[in-house]
Amino acid sequence: MSIKDKCPICQSDMTLTSDRNGRDVYHIDCKHRCGEYSITRNALINLQNTSISTRQSANISGWLCDNQGYEIDCKIIDSLTQLPSPSFHEKSDKILLYLEKRTPFAGARVNKTHKFISVGWCVNYEELKEITNYLKDTQRIIEESATPNTFFKIIPQGWDHLEKIKFRNFSSRQCFVAMWFAPEMEKVYSSAIKPAIEFVEEGLTRPRFEALKINNFEHINDINDEIIGQIRRSRFMVCDLTGHRGGVYFEAGFAYGLGIDVIYTCRKDWTHDEILKDKTGNSVKKLFDSNSNIIKIKKEGVHFDLAHRNRIEWTYDELPEFKERLEKRIKSVIKIN
Ligand SMILES: [Zn+2]
Repeated sequence: MSIKDKCPICQSDMTLTSDRNGRDVYHIDCKHRCGEYSITRNALINLQNTSISTRQSANISGWLCDNQGYEIDCKIIDSLTQLPSPSFHEKSDKILLYLEKRTPFAGARVNKTHKFISVGWCVNYEELKEITNYLKDTQRIIEESATPNTFFKIIPQGWDHLEKIKFRNFSSRQCFVAMWFAPEMEKVYSSAIKPAIEFVEEGLTRPRFEALKINNFEHINDINDEIIGQIRRSRFMVCDLTGHRGGVYFEAGFAYGLGIDVIYTCRKDWTHDEILKDKTGNSVKKLFDSNSNIIKIKKEGVHFDLAHRNRIEWTYDELPEFKERLEKRIKSVIKIN
């Protein structure tokens, strides 16, 4: 059964359908603003009894546009009502990205609808107008009229800008962790890096970001597609340079090239070159390969290309402090939307 009613988020017309499998869930199609989402019966009642401001409603509606098909339950409502607004530039990027998605071929025009208000996380038509004026002034789009419709079209500087922003993934919750896969590193991941990324803000019920680490076996020469794909999908990266691993440097470079924020960390003893020592503390100066050539056996520190970048150094004795510092760095570097 489906009924027509007002969307509990944005109050525009919507269609509500009961769940086919008899679950206490409704499927909502808010054609003009939020798009498609589901909501549990309790959450719907909860929302109808909560007074939300126009800004909160704009944020939730915008968030639903970014997360189509999401099922809202009571647990998430608190987090939804506390969503912070994206910046002006982030909003204009969201509108441009949405336009691109709707553009079947370069040069095609896209019908201007109310949907753009939600796509740009705007409270009303005035705010949307200010942002689309900015997109027009910066030569990213043009607006054309053919009565009774108005259209947007992406123009060359818009395509240029899209190329720059496409991989920044403002709405992604994923943080890719690039690090050495030695057993000794497991503890630092599980007790410092992962909890630092998955911090829960005050008043929220779940972490804003999720850590993702893919075991990258050293005997596979190709950097596998899974890793590349996951980096592309990530909002930012935490890159630990301990162990001087080529794969880790590659992943950091790839993310950097896509414009994804990378936060560097390194175990203190791996930040500088060091001659290896034997168990008695004597320097081991010479080793030979199978052709009797001397192998240099210094322990290499952070590579020159990255040595000047800001990084957090850590030791095994101070993992809780490391976790605190990393969490603080993430909060200050990664702009949250
Ligand atoms: Zn709606």
